[in-house]
Amino acid sequence: MEKDKINLLLVDDEEQFAQSISKSLEIRGFNVIVINRGEKAVEAARNHPIDVVLLDLKMPGMSGEETLKVLKKEHKSMEVVILTGHGDIDSAIECTKTGAYSYLQKPCELDELLESLKNAYKEKVMNTKKIEEKKMNEMLKISLSDKPRDILRRLREIDKEGK
Ligand SMILES: [Mg+2]
Repeated sequence: MEKDKINLLLVDDEEQFAQSISKSLEIRGFNVIVINRGEKAVEAARNHPIDVVLLDLKMPGMSGEETLKVLKKEHKSMEVVILTGHGDIDSAIECTKTGAYSYLQKPCELDELLESLKNAYKEKVMNTKKIEEKKMNEMLKISLSDKPRDILRRLREIDKEGK
């Protein structure tokens, strides 16, 4: 994946829609991975350094809501934007509680989508910075007089946080 681009995971079971959005976003400097199932999205996020996810809700198999839960649990700094054709206020509240960055309805203007994705990316960068700072503070708290084994264990714990 190219380093100077925003790495976007686009999860939608409507293939044509996904391909067309993907093309529009690639032109505007995003690196897009298109996935059509929640289960596969979880796997892709484990294998690629994803910044932002654009997630459909209604999909066969694992729903968007479930996918959101797993993604946010496994990747604390990553941000998720919901894009759904079946949105309602309850679902929007629920997704926001679970940690979705924003909730958009199809059809969505490209400009609005771009704005949301860019803001989600900014948030992701901030999250990463905060997690790094927290790790650094935790590291400084480790006393060198502690047993080497305990120091190593604690360092490993700190390293795992926020991934
Ligand atoms: Mg769908």
